[in-house]
Amino acid sequence: MTQLVPVLSAHWDEKDSFTIEAYTRHGGYKASQKALTMDPDAVIQLVKDSGLRGRGGAGFPTGMKWGFIPQGDNKDHYLVVNADESEPGTCKDTPLLMANPHVLIEGCIIACHAIRAKHAFIYIRGEVTHVVRRMNQAIEDAYKAGHLGNGVELVLHVGAGAYICGEETALLDSLEGFRGQPRLRPPFPAIAGLYARPTVVNNVESIASVPAIIANGAEWYQSMGTEKSKGTTLYSLSGHVNNPGQFEAPLGITLREILELSGGIRTGHTLKFWTPGGSSTPIFTQDHLDTPLDYEGVSAAGSMLGTKALQIFDETTCVVRAVLRWTEFYKHESCGKCTPCREGTWWLVQILRDLEAGKGTEADLAKLLDLCDNILGRSFCALGDGATSPITSSIQYFRDEYISHITHGGCPFDPVASTLFVGAGA
Ligand code: SF4
Repeated sequence: MTQLVPVLSAHWDEKDSFTIEAYTRHGGYKASQKALTMDPDAVIQLVKDSGLRGRGGAGFPTGMKWGFIPQGDNKDHYLVVNADESEPGTCKDTPLLMANPHVLIEGCIIACHAIRAKHAFIYIRGEVTHVVRRMNQAIEDAYKAGHLGNGVELVLHVGAGAYICGEETALLDSLEGFRGQPRLRPPFPAIAGLYARPTVVNNVESIASVPAIIANGAEWYQSMGTEKSKGTTLYSLSGHVNNPGQFEAPLGITLREILELSGGIRTGHTLKFWTPGGSSTPIFTQDHLDTPLDYEGVSAAGSMLGTKALQIFDETTCVVRAVLRWTEFYKHESCGKCTPCREGTWWLVQILRDLEAGKGTEADLAKLLDLCDNILGRSFCALGDGATSPITSSIQYFRDEYISHITHGGCPFDPVASTLFVGAGA
């Protein structure tokens, strides 16, 4: 059985894990010292060889992304860290930054050296003020210790709180002071990103994974995970489980194994459905308990690894209500730039509200799928596509439950029991 392997989360149980003293006590900032003695291209090659893939959802190889930055172009280059964690169920970057902010700072120093950048920006949600305070303190301590300011300047930028600013080009617009809306690509950020300069945008966990790779080598990282999904990652378990939280394991572990290692489903209850990668990824059921949770395994089973946000729902949950709640989120967060998403998510909510309240018909169910078909692949960015995933997948697996709402004239579940969803994962 695959075991939990704490690498990023190795010292999170220590009271002072977030301090520069604890980080250096455990060998922190030695990887950046080592990287700074290496040729930048050698650092990029090492990260490529490690097999590290972006942990923000898309799984793009990190070293390859760094390699896209043009060299010798006499332009400023920028590193931007995406800490705008906002998806329902996704909750890995916040605990990582609270427990060990210095690993991200050290990762920034290494990445800046590799891509020949002198400035790095961390774009963080404005709502997480406790994380902002912790990051600011860590940055101040890193400057005082001389890790920052000697070639790399690091700025923490606090966003106003918009899910769309987690989309990398909307994030860049927001960082430049504009309304956060996705940009047309090409040009891609590697060519014209922040201030129209070559820019790498990486997720928090991706950059935080780099110091251990530099310190221990590509082979060490390659020895964990599966053939195409290397290393360890943070799986965020939430919802109807006995022990919610972060569980770090090699990529490819299954939900059955994570549940066995973490205390299982809420006592006396059974698994009904779950998300493998946050609310924008198609849901799974009991039948997917043994699906390897790596990029290929989840994709082959019809969903996406996304942010590895494992939201667990037991048999007391009304799937129609859960999907309605998620869809309301996407309607609220739609940036309004394109018609399929702006208008489509509004209509999705109207129909789902009717269905959940027992006022819908089978024709509405068909209309719901038709709307999804017209949003998917026709929206400007992934938000529109993601909004359709929970709807189409829930109808695929739980069509009978939608029909029950129509025939019962409302939710067939005990209304008290179904309210359990309110605190489960939204
Ligand atoms: Fe904005 Fe939605 Fe269109 Fe993305 S899909 S650009 S969030 S309206």
